[in-house]
Amino acid sequence: MKRWHVALILRSIASVIILAFAFFSWFPMWIVALWLLVLLVFTVYASLTLPARLYMEARCKGKPGTLALTFDDGPHPVQTPALLDLLAKENVKASFFCIGRHVDEHPAIASRIVKDGHAIGIHSYDHHWTWGFLSTAKAAQEITRCAGAIHAATGKRTLLFRPPFGVTSPNIARAVRRTLVRTIGWDLRTFDTARTPDQVMRNIEKRATPGTIAVLHDTLPGTIELVERIIAHCRRNGTTLVRCDADQQQP
Ligand SMILES: [Zn+2]
Repeated sequence: MKRWHVALILRSIASVIILAFAFFSWFPMWIVALWLLVLLVFTVYASLTLPARLYMEARCKGKPGTLALTFDDGPHPVQTPALLDLLAKENVKASFFCIGRHVDEHPAIASRIVKDGHAIGIHSYDHHWTWGFLSTAKAAQEITRCAGAIHAATGKRTLLFRPPFGVTSPNIARAVRRTLVRTIGWDLRTFDTARTPDQVMRNIEKRATPGTIAVLHDTLPGTIELVERIIAHCRRNGTTLVRCDADQQQP
């Protein structure tokens, strides 16, 4: 049994017991209130923490001796081509989780990602802030519409998927099962959108472990310098940079 099954079963059993007791007038209401608070905290934690895998399975770790760089939110008209130039020069493969709308705006860049031998994945069509609240049908539509945009631009059908913001919910878990995509999480969130390259580099040096899958964004002006430094760091300590699906690559 998977850990997210255990978490959901335990939560459901505890809810039934506490709500059943709540029907008896002598049962203290503060226990019910406390349980509702625990449920709320659990829901927020499970929704925001994909690597905890409390709603669904996700690949969050690669093989020892490797590091997988994953770039979310592109293709960006300036940063993504510059990053692709750097990766080609250094002969490094990475993974790009693209927003469908951006793929429709920059199909040639999406096509180059695939031609250059990188993995391409789905990151929803709109990347809207309401992602975590979508119905199963709407979340599934966001996934398939993005997959369609990627296929139209690159000729490739991808099943790799990363949820926007890393946010999941029971509806999103159902949408993932319905669309048969494979969720790729991470074990190192670099927070590159909020930190300087120096801070991100320190974070990677301190927290990268064997087989780390790291989240970055190919939409930021600092990404190129950062990736140059990560490549140098990996070359120094003998870590191979790989696609997130390196050991189970799609045809
Ligand atoms: Zn994103």
